[in-house]
Amino acid sequence: MPYKKVLDTMQPYKPGKPIEETKKEYGLTEVIKLASNENPYGYSPKVAEWLRSEAQLLQLYPDANATTLKETLANKNGIAPEQLIIGNGSDELISIISRSMLDETKHVLMATPTFPQYVHNAKVEGATFTEIPLKDGHHDYEEFLQAIQDNTSIIWICNPNNPTGNVLNSAELEAFIEEVPSDILIVLDEAYFEYIMAEDHVDSLEWLPKYENILILRTFSKAYGLASIRVGYGIGHPSMIEQFNKVRNPFNNNTMAHTIAKIAVEDEEFLQKSRKLNAEQRERFYTFAKEQGLNIYPSETNFVLIETKRDANELADELMKRGVIVRSGNLLGTPGYMRVTIGTEQQNDQFFEAFK
Ligand code: PMP
Repeated sequence: MPYKKVLDTMQPYKPGKPIEETKKEYGLTEVIKLASNENPYGYSPKVAEWLRSEAQLLQLYPDANATTLKETLANKNGIAPEQLIIGNGSDELISIISRSMLDETKHVLMATPTFPQYVHNAKVEGATFTEIPLKDGHHDYEEFLQAIQDNTSIIWICNPNNPTGNVLNSAELEAFIEEVPSDILIVLDEAYFEYIMAEDHVDSLEWLPKYENILILRTFSKAYGLASIRVGYGIGHPSMIEQFNKVRNPFNNNTMAHTIAKIAVEDEEFLQKSRKLNAEQRERFYTFAKEQGLNIYPSETNFVLIETKRDANELADELMKRGVIVRSGNLLGTPGYMRVTIGTEQQNDQFFEAFK
């Protein structure tokens, strides 16, 4: 079959090993997954209440415009519904953006290491890409600017960055946006936005009126604890959103997902609770790393990157045998790093014990 040639060089996306598979493979009855940055506190109790009580209208197509969810998000964020596009997770939005803008003649830029879907989608569309190594764990804006070509169409910025977990300095990021030619789309992937606590952090929504070439991506998969409903959203200029909506499948989210996301947005209390508990537990990882003499990256997210000082793949396998799934692999270009989702107090105790 005449598939795109590039597919021969690519692998399907490999998420963290599922709990059931791990149980079977290692003969375990109890396994915790700290590999995919999900929220260990679940989701808003109001969502659970709705799920128990509501008869859902499964026979009807969902609202292709996600009207109610957009209104709720628009009100919360002080923007217009026309500035929003709703995706089947932000993964789908990354794909929609790439499909809308890339082909063999185009070029994209991103840091490395960062979220791998930016490169993955560039490859599928046949575009070329330049990965700019992090410098001392931070985005190297000078190098980004140097690497811009005449055909550069998208710059992907993951903030906070996955897998390092650090948040970018707002003033430096805005200065960079200012320098980038306005016909290049800058995507600010803020999947972990709700966890950010840095006091000097500026909400990028404030930049929207000034820069028509930025698109902000946020998701319900992380702090809202709703990874399975597959809802992410993009916020940008209405003319940009209109173009991306042409590429989006009309019924890309189902009615339950729309409703659940809306209920979750309205439950600020749950979000704040998750943020607080996550921050408390994150401190325990710093203490643990110090005790163990390990280097750990300061994180503004619900995961931490740990320098393991030995092959992290082997270590991850040992942890798996003890019922703890984490993410290893070539996270910083070497096999010596492990990314661990910050779990509940009990889950983290289990991780610390197993690690020791
Ligand atoms: N961007 C980043 C930086 C992520 O870490 C993730 C999830 N791992 C995503 C996007 C995708 O999130 P989702 O599709 O669940 O919204």
